[in-house]
Amino acid sequence: MASSRRDTTDGPASGDPTTTNPITRAVKSAVRSMSGYSLVQPDCPVKLNQNECPFDVPEDLKREIVDEALGANWGRYPGFVPGEVKEAIGRRHGLGPEHILIGNGSNELIQSIFQTTVDQGDGVVLPAPTFSLYALMGRIAGADIRTVHLRRDLSFDVDRLVEESAHPDVRLVVLCSPNNPTGSMVSVQDTARIAEATEGLVVVDEAYYEFGGVSSLELITTHPNVVVTRTFSKALGAAGLRLGYLAADPALAREIEKVKLPYNVNIVSLITARKLIGREALIEERATLIRSERKRVYEALRNLAGIRPYPSHANFILFETERPVSEIFHELIERGVLIRDVSRYPMLERGMRVTIGLPEENDAFLDALRAVLGD
Ligand code: PMP
Repeated sequence: MASSRRDTTDGPASGDPTTTNPITRAVKSAVRSMSGYSLVQPDCPVKLNQNECPFDVPEDLKREIVDEALGANWGRYPGFVPGEVKEAIGRRHGLGPEHILIGNGSNELIQSIFQTTVDQGDGVVLPAPTFSLYALMGRIAGADIRTVHLRRDLSFDVDRLVEESAHPDVRLVVLCSPNNPTGSMVSVQDTARIAEATEGLVVVDEAYYEFGGVSSLELITTHPNVVVTRTFSKALGAAGLRLGYLAADPALAREIEKVKLPYNVNIVSLITARKLIGREALIEERATLIRSERKRVYEALRNLAGIRPYPSHANFILFETERPVSEIFHELIERGVLIRDVSRYPMLERGMRVTIGLPEENDAFLDALRAVLGD
């Protein structure tokens, strides 16, 4: 009987419309049954758990941004359309501003894409393992999520993705490339194959693009169902300011714009976006250092007994451990190094992910790991 069933997640009876608990009555069952996006975040001197950029925005640039912000009227909303910023970002990709939307982080735009496309029961195709927020957004929308596991070597199973994406009820396919947490990539040709197979949209989340160098951006002119998202939170080093953007066919961008909240990006972040996007040499210099450190850390991990790293095109490395992940995770914390336990992701029961930091941070991580392993 429904009224006697107990919901172990939040205590009150679930699924019973006569219940007197207003929270149970008000909150969607899809939301109540979710555990939500959370993160274990102890304070550690070496923080390599969130794929952030180890470099801050340069001091001179911060001052320029703050000076310009001081001259702005904070009592007024930002312009209805952040035209200058859209133009600056479009120029970076040889596109007009009509292709671009700016978000309060790229996650906000991915959420807008879900809201634009997915109704209750619609098909959403997601590789697994991948960034967990897509499944969260899909569940909130009531999507029927179709999971396509990566191959054993953690490459994308493109044939299976094409097959699943071809079902006529599929509204959205999300490809994270380079993929978080594996570091694997999908090629432009394979993205095109998936886009041609589906009647839905294909979102390519390129949050880690600068560390891999392969982009599906060129497809937005040939395949109008492809949307590419980018972020300022990784190679551009401005995670704290929450900035992201998408590039899409102008007709599609106009539809997503109807859903996106107005004035979603604040004045200070808009100034930052305009100034940072022009600093191509700085972005490339930093990404080059991260790529060379990634190679060094990968080789060091390969030489450790009981550790198996996977090649990565991002600013992190996934590795598997022979010893239980939680033991290694906590012993690293005791030594002041915080990385990510990804053992709850599908296929990654032995998985840990380390962000590539400054050379001295990477050394601290490798020394701590060697000590933990008794190497
Ligand atoms: N996409 C992926 C694949 C990510 O890993 C992350 C950060 N964890 C984001 C997007 C977040 O982007 P933003 O900070 O722009 O919302």
